[in-house]
Amino acid sequence: MERNFAGRTVLAIFAHPDDESLACGGTLARLADAGARVILLCASRGEAGSLSDPALVAGGDLGTVRTRELREAAAVLGVAEVLIFDHPDGDLRWDHVSELHEEIVKAIQQYRPDAVITFAEDGLYWHLDHIGVHERTYTAVRSFGADAPPLYYVTIPAGVMRELEEAAHAKGGAPPDSSFWGIAPDAFGAKAKPPEFVVDVRDWAPRKLAALRCHRTQMGPNNPIAWINEDEARRWLGVEQFRRAPLESVNGAVLEQLGEPAAS
Ligand SMILES: [Zn+2]
Repeated sequence: MERNFAGRTVLAIFAHPDDESLACGGTLARLADAGARVILLCASRGEAGSLSDPALVAGGDLGTVRTRELREAAAVLGVAEVLIFDHPDGDLRWDHVSELHEEIVKAIQQYRPDAVITFAEDGLYWHLDHIGVHERTYTAVRSFGADAPPLYYVTIPAGVMRELEEAAHAKGGAPPDSSFWGIAPDAFGAKAKPPEFVVDVRDWAPRKLAALRCHRTQMGPNNPIAWINEDEARRWLGVEQFRRAPLESVNGAVLEQLGEPAAS
């Protein structure tokens, strides 16, 4: 039986709409199902991202449409509250550094999370915006000293995006030169520090896939994720992996309660 997370709050902090679903949508849904209040903070509206079909932003702008997509995905995952900031997509590591730090500090003061989740040092695939959000989150959480909530870094298992792409190709989906938002599949998880524990989210993979597909501007036919079915999502998106950040915090393990030790 699932452990009861009622009364607990988890704050997830990412850079763009869709990061939350790809990085740890299964864990967020599993936490929400176990009773946790999941709060999602997104640093930008993703206005500089790719666009699968110009018709999707007819009469609007990409940032507005992606904000709406994020709210839909968050609802699918069971996220209780979404905080979307309007920092410049593409410049998150350099612009508004102190503002974002302060916003994360304020969110921690307001929601008193029992755990915080963000990118690891590798930013999933060495994306500089993601690395910037990793840095801001680390410094913001660290500023709470011994009171800091445990901070968890999520990474993508190396190799799974390659397998997912090959599965799409095998069924004739996604063109041979397709990629994930222009990112080579082998970049995901490459040279990431190894996880300490993994969370089995195979039972939540269909919801993770549904949440990913809410991000319609990011999920055109060139994206292999558009071509996989729920069984394939279980297989390649069904494990999420984490490491606890080295902080002075005295607060105990939270996310580990859902996890199993990572194979070494
Ligand atoms: Zn991103």
